[in-house]
Amino acid sequence: MQSEANVKERLNLYINGRWVEPVGKGTVKVVNPCSEEAIATIAMGNEEDVDRAVSAAREAFPAWSRTTVAERAALMARISSAMAARQNEIGDTIAAEMGMPAPWSRMIQAGLPIATLNSFVPILENYPFEYDMGRTRIVKEAIGVCGFITPWNYPLHQIIGKVAPALAAGCTMVLKPSQLAPLNAFILAEILEKAGLPPGVFNLVSGAGSRVGQAIASHPEIDMVSLTGSTQSGILVARAAAQTIKRVTLELGGKSPNVLLKDADFPVAVRKGVHQCYLNSGQTCTALSRMIVPAEKQEDVVVLAREAAESMVMGDAFADGVFLGPMVDRQQQQSVRAYIETGIREGATLVTGGPEQPDYLPKGFFVRPTVFSNVRTDMVIAREEIFGPVLCILPYRSEEEAIEIANDSVYGLSGSVWSGDIERARSAAKRIRSGQVFINGADFDIDAPAGGYKQSGIGRERSKYGLEEYLEIKAVIGHNPA
Ligand code: NAD
Repeated sequence: MQSEANVKERLNLYINGRWVEPVGKGTVKVVNPCSEEAIATIAMGNEEDVDRAVSAAREAFPAWSRTTVAERAALMARISSAMAARQNEIGDTIAAEMGMPAPWSRMIQAGLPIATLNSFVPILENYPFEYDMGRTRIVKEAIGVCGFITPWNYPLHQIIGKVAPALAAGCTMVLKPSQLAPLNAFILAEILEKAGLPPGVFNLVSGAGSRVGQAIASHPEIDMVSLTGSTQSGILVARAAAQTIKRVTLELGGKSPNVLLKDADFPVAVRKGVHQCYLNSGQTCTALSRMIVPAEKQEDVVVLAREAAESMVMGDAFADGVFLGPMVDRQQQQSVRAYIETGIREGATLVTGGPEQPDYLPKGFFVRPTVFSNVRTDMVIAREEIFGPVLCILPYRSEEEAIEIANDSVYGLSGSVWSGDIERARSAAKRIRSGQVFINGADFDIDAPAGGYKQSGIGRERSKYGLEEYLEIKAVIGHNPA
C-alpha cells in the first residue's frame, strides 16, 4: 500500500480493494502551479482498466447494496474521522497540486469533504427507504454501479459530493479524478481501504477524460454517470451515456450574478462580492462573476471594488497571508489572460488588473486580480465562464432590468441578492433562474442542495436531494392472498 505523505509516484490504480498495475502504460506529471515544477507522477489507465474496475464494482454491488443503514452509517462516520485525522495533509496536498493557499485549502478543500461526509450520516439514518402509498409499497433502492468524473478546482469536495451519497445509498463506484489534481483521490482510496470498505465498492482509475472518462460514460455495466466539469465535457458525457440509457447527473459551469439592489449596504456588499468572485482565484463554478449594480452607483462601486481587489495578496500557496494563488496550469492562465484582452477590446473599462504577468511573481501561472466596469450583457466577458480572478460590473436602470441581466445567461448555477429588506431580496431571488441564491452574503451551507438550472447541469448534490440521485424507485403492488 502507498501511504507516505511524501510519495512522489502514484503508478498503481485501486481496483477491487488492491493497488494494481494499470494495463494502460502512460503516466502524467502533476505540476505545482506556483513553482511550475513537477511534484508527482501518476498512472494513466485505459479502457481495459475501466473494464476491470467496473467488473469489481458490479461484483461488489449485491452484497454492498444489502448492507443495513446502520452498517453504512458507521462506516461513513469512520471514513470521515480518518479523513479528519489527515485534514492538514489533504489540504496541503491540494494546495501543492492546484495552488489554493494552504490555510484556505486546509479549511475548504479538506474541511468541506469531511463535513459533507458527516452530513450524510443523519440523512441516511432518517431517510424513508420504504413506505406505503395507497395500495403500493414504495421501495427506494441503490441504482447500481456509478461512474464519477471530477474536476481539479475543488477536487476532493467534488469527489465526496458523489462518493458520500453513493455510499449512503448502497451503490458501488468507479472514480476518474482530474489528472491536474489527482493526488487527493489517491489519499482518499487509502483512507477507504484502511476504513474497511469492502473490495470493489470504490475503485480508482486515473486517466484522460477522452479515454477513461469516455469509457466510463459509455460503459454498458455502469448504471449512472455523474460528472462535475465544464459544460463541453457534460455534453460529451451525456452523449456517450445516451447509448446505454444510464442516469446522468451533471454539475457544470456558471456565470453567476450578484445583484445589488438600491437599498443594499454597498461597502459590505462590494467587498464581500469581490471576495466571492476571487475565492480560489476565481476558479469556482459558483463564483459571483457578474456584479449587477444601479447605474447611478456604478462609480462608487468601482472605487470599492478596486480597493478590495488591490488589497488582496497574491503569491505562493505556502507563503504567509496569501489569498490569491495561481491558475491551475499554463493553459488556464493563457485562457484567462485572453479573456482580459477580449474585455479591453470589447470596450469594457479596465478598473484594475490586466493581462500581464505580475512583475513581482515572474514564475507561476498567476493572473492579476482584474475588475471591469461598464460591461454590457452582449460582451463575451459577460457571457462566458472565465474561471479566473475577473469581475465584471454591469450597470442597471431598474430592478426589472437587474433581474433581466441576471437571467441573461445560458448558465443558472448560483446567484446572490443584496438588499436592506429580506422580503425584497427573497422576491428578487425567486425570479433568478439558478439552483442557489445567497442573500446578503450568507455563508455556504453544506446542508443545502446544489446544482444547476439551464446549461449549468442536471440533478442536485448534497442534502436528501443529493441522496435521491442514487436511488431507483420501485413500486411493489399487492396484498395477502384473498
Ligand atoms: P473539464 O470539463 O475539463 O474536466 C472535468 C473532468 O472531465 C476531468 O476529469 C476530465 O478529465 C474529464 N473529461 C474531459 N473531457 C472528457 C470527455 N470527453 N469525456 C469524459 N470525461 C471528460 O473541467 P475542469 O477544467 O476540470 O473543471 C472546470 C469546470 O468545472 C468549470 O467549467 C467549472 O465551472 C466546472 N465545475 C462545476 C462545478 C459544479 O458543481 N457545477 C463544480 C466545480 C467545477
